[in-house]
Amino acid sequence: MAFLDIHHLEKSFGAARVVKDFNLGIEKGEFVSFLGPSGCGKTTVLRMVGGFETPTSGSIRIDGRDVTRIAANRRNIGMVFQAYALFPNLTVADNIGFGLKVAGEGKAAIRTRVAEMLELIGLPQLGGRYPFQLSGGQQQRVALGRALAVRPQVLLLDEPLSALDAKIRVSLREEIRRIQRDLGITTIFVTHDQEEALSMSDRVVVMHQGVADQVGTPFEIYNRPTTRFVAEFVGTLNLIDAELTDAAAGRIRLGDVPVALNRTLAGRSGDRISLALRPETVALGRKEDGNVVLSGHIAEVHFLGSVIRVRVAVAGQLLSLDTFNQPDRPPPAIGAPVEVSVSDRDLLVL
Ligand code: ADP
Ligand code: MG
Repeated sequence: MAFLDIHHLEKSFGAARVVKDFNLGIEKGEFVSFLGPSGCGKTTVLRMVGGFETPTSGSIRIDGRDVTRIAANRRNIGMVFQAYALFPNLTVADNIGFGLKVAGEGKAAIRTRVAEMLELIGLPQLGGRYPFQLSGGQQQRVALGRALAVRPQVLLLDEPLSALDAKIRVSLREEIRRIQRDLGITTIFVTHDQEEALSMSDRVVVMHQGVADQVGTPFEIYNRPTTRFVAEFVGTLNLIDAELTDAAAGRIRLGDVPVALNRTLAGRSGDRISLALRPETVALGRKEDGNVVLSGHIAEVHFLGSVIRVRVAVAGQLLSLDTFNQPDRPPPAIGAPVEVSVSDRDLLVL
């Protein structure tokens, strides 16, 4: 059994089933993100793990112990929320030491532990300040220090970076992951930001309407999405409408343009299908392994800096592709006729 084991977890509020048959095993020391749009049930699952919400059915085990109906303060969990839930009338040091004081630890032990935590979160000089004297990013560091001070077995983070500026968010991402690795603490991180989930996690759980749609490494989730929802929610995706003309022979048609794939497809002639393609797998011109070649013209060019996103009109549809900026080569001109190529194996049929 996994260190943290969530088994057939369900939650209803009145008639609304907001978490449906949620199953997940998390290994000790693993960093797992729950990723999904607002309202899909991420916080509800997290609150059930933390003991702030009672499951309608199912069970939660931590290190072999069934905690499903154990009170939050007896679960050995640390939690950080989106809004800086620090005690405004306590200093940083007293905030961090709060849980230890409640647990009845002695003054000297608390002082030592608080100093360790201040060091860990990179604010060794700020123990005497009050929350209002800190930036948002510093306040979230303190919230993290407070959650970790009591040496929890599991750390739960509910969108802890959402309220911060973009630059701070990226640097705190790396900081949180470094601290988590140093301590080897089993962590669940809730976010609606796919870049955050992909960049930080050992594994990602993509949630949709109360269901865990797919669980996998960031690489698997991005490159081998198993549902259309996951494919569309994570990353940018081309979805191309096509028609099956000969499924067994792998023949399809994009509008009037016939295309042959190197594989057998499921379905019958005349069926509508969707082809999914990441922009970075589409090449301008012919690439070495690009066995599917299509003609079109440049419809849009978006210069993003290191990447140039180009939209090519092909068979009545727009296909986005990414090319890297090259300082000695200006981006293609709108209206120019071009060929694009794709490798068969990068085409997902949904
Ligand atoms: P997320 O964190 O993914 O945004 P939540 O877990 O907060 O989603 O909410 C999932 C669904 O459950 C939402 O439709 C929300 O309105 C509903 N919900 C959450 N908490 C309660 C509650 N205490 N009472 C009634 N409905 C709730
Ligand atoms: Mg939430």
